[in-house]
Amino acid sequence: MAIRIDGKALAQKMQSELADKVSLLKAEKGVVPGLVVILVGDDPASHIYVRNKERAAEKAGFYSETVRLSADISQEELLAIVDKYNHDDRFHGILVQLPLPAHIDEDSVVLAIDPDKDVDGFHHVNTGRLWSGQPMMVPCTPAGIMKMFEVYGISLEGKNAVVVGRSNIVGKPMAALLLEANATVTSTHSKTCHLSEITHKADILVVAIGKANFITADYVKNGAVVIDVGMNRDADGKLAGDVDFASVEPKASYITPVPGGVGPMTITMLLEQTYEAARRSLGH
Ligand code: NAP
Repeated sequence: MAIRIDGKALAQKMQSELADKVSLLKAEKGVVPGLVVILVGDDPASHIYVRNKERAAEKAGFYSETVRLSADISQEELLAIVDKYNHDDRFHGILVQLPLPAHIDEDSVVLAIDPDKDVDGFHHVNTGRLWSGQPMMVPCTPAGIMKMFEVYGISLEGKNAVVVGRSNIVGKPMAALLLEANATVTSTHSKTCHLSEITHKADILVVAIGKANFITADYVKNGAVVIDVGMNRDADGKLAGDVDFASVEPKASYITPVPGGVGPMTITMLLEQTYEAARRSLGH
């Protein structure tokens, strides 16, 4: 039976340690890490995510602001707001909650964020840093997964790592981080042929596709480490991962549950990166 990687407990521990580090930074340097989250429109899921981020930031002692904007805001108005926060020294992290309404070009908005405040790590400067082996602001979900590997003592060097899914948010940065950690990485996607033959060779299998219970035991090698990023809701609102936990758990050596696995680490890494940005602003 696999060891369950408890992302919830790890996230709580890290957030509590972060609150101590934030107090110390304030006492010693007079600086409070500041995070602004910009939310456009009424997407219910986005509202929940943003509220959770707001609460976690406040609990960790951050200076936190949420800007809630109407869905019909123009792109120019939104860009002007982002620019205002780029120049506001109280904020070390700026996050624009995606998705944005269809009339707004997401890329233009992401690229308008000062790369040094881009705590989501989506700006091309940060993508470039990541793929050049000099990661700074890294997308929070894969960053959280790397933290889990570290804390659970899962070695990556020389391992066969297979990432299923190649989104800019999860799959691609995950592949870059695994490569940086000296794993031998295979990146797969919806056009990949014979997927199960490839995943079957994985020592480390990270799945981020958005399809409930897609990866069954047939896709998994005995003793593999299986990380499930998926967050899929069924008709009753119940959460399911991309991995069929019941059939895969007996074969895996480590596995993340859904909920309580990867999800809680994402917000934690957002706060960690904002804290690090605040330290960097002091020249550390
Ligand atoms: P996305 O942007 O929709 O990308 C999905 C990726 O999966 C694409 O690269 C797609 O391939 C690939 N894919 C789809 N069907 C496939 C199949 N049958 N075989 C192989 N690859 C397939 O999704 P995402 O933003 O990466 O999110 C993925 C999942 O993770 C979702 O359930 C999302 O809710 C969840 N998520 C969770 C967190 C968290 O904090 N826990 C954070 C982000 C996302 P193509 O590129 O060829 O289309």
